[in-house]
Amino acid sequence: MMPKLRLAIVYLAIAACLPATRTAVRADAAPGARAEQVRYDGHALGRILIRDRDDLEFVLQHTTDHWGERLGLGPQDFRLPPGAVEKLEAAGLTLKILHPDIQILIDAERDQLARAGAGFYDAYRTLNEINARLDHLAALDPDRVSLFSIGNSVQGRPIRGVRIEGPIPGAGGGGGSAITRPALLIAGCQHAREWVSAMAPLYVAEQIVAGDGLDERITTLLDNVEIIVIPVVNPDGYLYSWTTDRLWRKNRKLISFPHFGVDLNRNWSVAWGGEGSSGLISSELYRGAIPFSEPCSRHVRDFILDNPHIRAAYDVHNYSQLVLGAWGHTVSEPADRDVTFPLAEQIAEAMTDVDDAEHSAGHGGFQLGLASGIMTDWVSHVAKAHAWTLELRDTGETGFLLPPEQIIPAGEETLAATLVLGERLMTPLEFLVIEGPPDFTPADEPAMVRMKPVRMGALPGAAPPVLHTRIGAAGEFSSAPMTPLGDGVYEGELPAAPCGAVIHYYFEMTTAEGATAIGPGEGAETPHETTAREVHTVFMDDFSTDTGWSPAAPDDDATAGLWERINPLGTDAQPSDCHSPPFCYITGQAVQGQPASASSVRGGKTTLTSPRLDATAAPGEAWISYRRWYSNNMGGATFTQSMLIEISNDDGETWTLLEAARDNRQEWLLRRWRIADFVEPTDALRIRFIARDHSEMDMAVVEAGVDDVRLEFAACPGGPIGDLNGDGVVNAQDLAILLGSWGPCPDPEEPCPADVNGDGVVNAQDLGIVLGSWGAP
Ligand SMILES: [Zn+2]
Repeated sequence: MMPKLRLAIVYLAIAACLPATRTAVRADAAPGARAEQVRYDGHALGRILIRDRDDLEFVLQHTTDHWGERLGLGPQDFRLPPGAVEKLEAAGLTLKILHPDIQILIDAERDQLARAGAGFYDAYRTLNEINARLDHLAALDPDRVSLFSIGNSVQGRPIRGVRIEGPIPGAGGGGGSAITRPALLIAGCQHAREWVSAMAPLYVAEQIVAGDGLDERITTLLDNVEIIVIPVVNPDGYLYSWTTDRLWRKNRKLISFPHFGVDLNRNWSVAWGGEGSSGLISSELYRGAIPFSEPCSRHVRDFILDNPHIRAAYDVHNYSQLVLGAWGHTVSEPADRDVTFPLAEQIAEAMTDVDDAEHSAGHGGFQLGLASGIMTDWVSHVAKAHAWTLELRDTGETGFLLPPEQIIPAGEETLAATLVLGERLMTPLEFLVIEGPPDFTPADEPAMVRMKPVRMGALPGAAPPVLHTRIGAAGEFSSAPMTPLGDGVYEGELPAAPCGAVIHYYFEMTTAEGATAIGPGEGAETPHETTAREVHTVFMDDFSTDTGWSPAAPDDDATAGLWERINPLGTDAQPSDCHSPPFCYITGQAVQGQPASASSVRGGKTTLTSPRLDATAAPGEAWISYRRWYSNNMGGATFTQSMLIEISNDDGETWTLLEAARDNRQEWLLRRWRIADFVEPTDALRIRFIARDHSEMDMAVVEAGVDDVRLEFAACPGGPIGDLNGDGVVNAQDLAILLGSWGPCPDPEEPCPADVNGDGVVNAQDLGIVLGSWGAP
């Protein structure tokens, strides 16, 4: 059993026998009624380092109110009732008080609301004020903004939103869109107490409307993408958090008196009932009796299904300053991670750039433990659209009671996230070349390229994509459909080209919506490029024998999980087979019957260094390549560590970084580098792999592996292609020779140097090849 599963079970078991900790009886507020306010005098906001399940078990004996979206290992925030702090400290837990008295924060917020200034975003706003603001926005710009309600909450309140759309080119006055644009949905406040998660989406809607026609980015965005905002998905809970209990999280369904509320963001159907949700009606994470038992989650679901042009969604929450992608319910990485992970990083970076408040990207299931039955996973899996959970400000200084002067900064950060994602939706499909476009292909041989179309503003159609190729930098492209390999991957053939020739290629595919998508970029104008070379492998090590690698460096300080050349047994984090079985280097053999953490790298770094290699052994460009395994997505402190891979050209005196491996792929990834891009190739070359665990209290599970290390040389022995006069450089003189020989070669028996590709005629293809190696020495 994995550690997180145990945590979840412990949590449920403990929560079952806890008394209610709030200090006042809750009265469900009828609209207009004066309800007693729940008070939290002396309740602290504390951050506790959860090292293992015993820690968590103990903490949950003293509080059930975890503050955050995912409960797991590592630092976790809790509301701590009076007396709890002393008991936790006495038990030796590492604890930091973020705020000594949550009631003081609540009172300060109430005072501030009472004297709220003129600006709408200077204060948090009631449900009525938010709804009035939506009406106001639609009235301001009826051409761009349309109001809608997706249905009523369990207490009968409408769930309202706005669509914002740019002008439709060619649309008549009679309504009806001439085109369908992809849409980005921004939904806020599934969790009642997360007030800024309602204000920020509303702010985005207003800024988009105000910026149309004035701000270039916004104008372009609205010409291509529809923005849909639903600021309050949980109106009953939101109202109740104003009238009665500021810290209310769930909706207001009466389950069984005195228990109210379902956690809407555990009520979605994908992985419903899994880890990080609860079947106990008293739990803050109560998932409901069945998936979509709640009108609020059901209406959002139906709205998305009724609007299949919604191609991406943000589910907005606070706090933690995180951009969390699918999956939330498992540590497995999603199939489209090569696109979605870098995109999440880009979104987080854009949010950080607004005001230097650091936002980071993570995997839902990695960064903070697991959550099942959440909107983001449903949108990704069922609606086939990209989705992220945005955790807005702050990082725990005030928790859910974010001071109102941070509403506008949080709104600006959400706007930045909206622009980055919206702009990506303007591309219908992205074409991901598996393991990256090849830097070189073997001369005179066809080469295979594997590609996966990834949904963006559209979905891929059923017909296979077309691969367009040409030899040389100019001339016509040849086109052929690609072959499906399963799992959405296609294969196509790059043509055999003479050594030194460049090959250009790009992809084209019809979307499910019937539009044409090309890539990369503009296709024929910005194709992928590779060069045909003769390749000689001078060193290849699959570790079947000991070739003199050193599995330790003098300054290594790891205490466990050291590099070994083994046939691995495998764990959740470690491969059970080498890429080339049986042997490879792995950071420590698994301990049978023990979890992954038992064989993980511990206490510092462990270094694997190659024997001395000769990067001048053959003519041409020297390339180093390897297969690597890396895992830091199990246990605690997930996604915090990295493996450094470095190269030296002076026999290990000095080192230069090739890459810091961070991807948790559960597979052997190929990496290949041109040595001259990092260091001058010499005969004293070494490569090393440094796996390490520098996490606080050794929380991380780190596993690494290395196999199939190669040193290769790519060259064209005859000199640069297109050097028709043999002077060692491709220039105007060669071009003159080519143009002077234009047309069929006069005599097949005689040399015809300008017929570069040897097809018996000097034509545009030869011209393309010569231009492709222009200036080559
Ligand atoms: Zn939330």
